Amino acid sequence: MATRYDVLIVGAGHGGAQAAIALRQRKFAGTIAIIGEEPELPYERPPLSKDYLAQEKPFERILIRPESFWVEREVAMLTGRRVVSVDPEGHGVTTADGETIGYGQLIWATGGHARRIACEGHDLGGVHSVRTRADVDRMVEELATTTRVAVIGGGYIGLEAAAVLARLGKTVTVLEALDRVLARVAGEALSRFYEAEHRAHGVDVRLGARVEHIEGEDGRVTGVRLAGGEIVPAGMVIVGIGIVPAVEPLRVAGAEGGNGVAVDEHGRTSLPDIFAVGDCALHANPFAEGMPIRLESVQNANDMATVVARAITGEPEPYHAVPWFWSNQYDLRLQTVGLSVGHDQEILRGDPASRAFSIVYLKQNRVIALDCVNSVKDYVQGRALVNGRIVADSRRLADAAVPLKSLVAETTSPD
Ligand SMILES: Cc1cc2nc3c(=O)[nH]c(=O)nc-3n(C[C@H](O)[C@H](O)[C@H](O)COP(=O)(O)OP(=O)(O)OC[C@H]3O[C@@H](n4cnc5c(N)ncnc54)[C@H](O)[C@@H]3O)c2cc1C
Repeated sequence: MATRYDVLIVGAGHGGAQAAIALRQRKFAGTIAIIGEEPELPYERPPLSKDYLAQEKPFERILIRPESFWVEREVAMLTGRRVVSVDPEGHGVTTADGETIGYGQLIWATGGHARRIACEGHDLGGVHSVRTRADVDRMVEELATTTRVAVIGGGYIGLEAAAVLARLGKTVTVLEALDRVLARVAGEALSRFYEAEHRAHGVDVRLGARVEHIEGEDGRVTGVRLAGGEIVPAGMVIVGIGIVPAVEPLRVAGAEGGNGVAVDEHGRTSLPDIFAVGDCALHANPFAEGMPIRLESVQNANDMATVVARAITGEPEPYHAVPWFWSNQYDLRLQTVGLSVGHDQEILRGDPASRAFSIVYLKQNRVIALDCVNSVKDYVQGRALVNGRIVADSRRLADAAVPLKSLVAETTSPD
């Protein structure tokens, strides 16, 4: 007979680990197992493009919890196994090696796989993505013999990797197809600031750069050919162009969704006893005006996992956490609160030349998000402005001498 767990978690990443932690914290006494396709115990993904890539932190220090934690909490770790199908009626999953595992409730926490670039040369040696520990270990192995690196994609992960590699003395070119970096996630002022920072650190940031294909010799990358014919020489290429949510087995089983698996405010999918959390979960987010979105952040994975643990332990509370995110590049710590997408006004607080400033994003005069660079106070105090969608005087918002917390007290929230 197949092994059965009361709660089976698929995906041993941030969301999966936090779901098990939160269940045990809430005194859930049933059996729990986590199945993960990677061989490792759950580890933190953000250091992969930061201090782990820089070889400043060994792998043991990025484990979410030590092995003893899982043993003591009686959370079975079924690592190195990929779930390929789900049987919602029979309450079971099947792994790639044909093993069937039963569940009472299933939590789908599979994140996403790095999006592959669809051009000739994508599979050459020396072409990497940055999603797993194995990806970064492969990259690190090649670094000693690499001098030139091309990074395709000017999003957070690509820029963080570029910053680490520039600091390691590599010649780095960032190839961004749009007319600014971070275009998907930040306003123009922040994009221009980061472009200038990278250039000041010797990174060649190319905007409007359309990759035609990746060039190679004897199975190894030698450069990136751009539309127009220019070849950017590179012994290593890092592709940072986003993820594809890993939801196929669940969608094939009939779960509703599209670019992800759809969940309600308690993380429930359309299938009975199946929840989903984290990067793969398409949810109506109150900070995106209720639009169905996927958020790719540790905060979202952890908070959704806690929401699901609450639903399973009979104390449901809907998901309404304020989104937050961080990014480290050089000596710059960016902290973001809220979602700036759809803003109609950007207000600068402080001087970017001082390398400590914030940008406040407004929509119809209400504060919807802040990007804070080396500006922890604004980040901490700005959260209340975002949470209450506060209408604040734009001149006072722009005055870095006025603490943001004083603006919360001065104004009233819309609802
Ligand atoms: C390089 C990098 C840097 C980042 N930096 C930041 C940052 O600075 N701040 C921030 O907030 N966020 C950051 N993120 C995003 C953050 O790491 C993710 O949002 C978070 O990991 C999402 O958690 P998750 O549990 O949804 O997915 P993951 O942590 O990706 O875990 C999913 C796990 O499920 C496994 N899996 C997938 N399919 C299957 C299957 N069929 N069967 C079994 N297992 C499966 C995957 O292999 C993976 O191990 C970064 C991400 C990366 C890759």
